[in-house]
Amino acid sequence: MSATPRYRRVVLKVSGEALMGSQGFGIDVSVVDRIAADIAEARALGVEVGVVIGGGNIFRGVAVASKGGDRVTGDHMGMLATVINSLALRTSLVKIGVEAVVLSAIAMPELCESFSQRQATAYMNAGKVVIFAGGTGNPFFTTDSAAALRAAEIGADALFKGTQVDGVYSADPLKTKDAVRYDRLTHERVMREGLRIMDTAAIALARENNIPIIVFSIHEEGGFAAILKGAGRCTIVDD
Ligand code: UDP
Repeated sequence: MSATPRYRRVVLKVSGEALMGSQGFGIDVSVVDRIAADIAEARALGVEVGVVIGGGNIFRGVAVASKGGDRVTGDHMGMLATVINSLALRTSLVKIGVEAVVLSAIAMPELCESFSQRQATAYMNAGKVVIFAGGTGNPFFTTDSAAALRAAEIGADALFKGTQVDGVYSADPLKTKDAVRYDRLTHERVMREGLRIMDTAAIALARENNIPIIVFSIHEEGGFAAILKGAGRCTIVDD
C-alpha cells in the first residue's frame, strides 16, 4: 500500500439511492454521516474531493414523463432533489469538521452558491470539499453526466463511481452466482459491450478527457480511502 495517494484530485459520484439506507425513500442521516466520514478520510490523505450526488432517492424526471407529464418539469424536480441531498452531505461534513461548500448548477443564492469552474477550482485548491448540486443544470441529462462534466472541468485525475457492488461484473452479481468481477477495463470496451457503469454520455466524456473511472462499493466503510492508497476492491476503467 502506497503512502502517497494514487490521485491528487477526484470527483466522487454517489447515487441518491445510496443515501436512503434501508428506507424506501429519502435520506437516512446515518448513511450520509458514514459517507461524510469516508470523504473526511480521503481529505486527510491530502486528496482534493469534489462530489456529485444524484436525486433518485427523492425524484427522477422520468416518473413525471412516464405518467404523461412534462419531462422538462420532471427533470427540474429531479435536479432540485440533488440540491436537497447535497445540503444533507454538507451538513454531515461540517458536523465532523470538514470544510465543504455546495455549488449549484441552478442559481438559488439563499441556499448555496452557484457553480462556476473558477470558483470550484479555487475552493478545491483551498482544500474544501466541493459538492456539485443540480446536476448539469439541464433536463435530459443525468448526474452521471454531471459527474463526468465536473471532473473534466476541474481537471480531476479520476472519477469515482460509488455503486451497490465492489466493481464491474460480467453479469449482475446479485442475480448471477458465477458473475466475474473485472479488475481493469477500457472505456472503449465498456461502451462496446454496453456494461452498465454510468450512462454512455458520461463514459464518452471521461474517455475524451482521459479520465479513469473507478467503480467501487459505496457501502464499504473506508473503501474510498483504501482505493486512494492503492488497496481496496474496485474496477478501474482506463485506456
Ligand atoms: N437531472 C437532470 N439533469 C441533470 C442531472 C439530473 O434533469 O443534469 C434530473 C433527472 O430527472 C434525474 C434526476 O435529476 O432523473 C436525478 O438524477 P439521477 O437520476 O442522475 O440520480 P441518481 O440515479 O444518481 O440518484
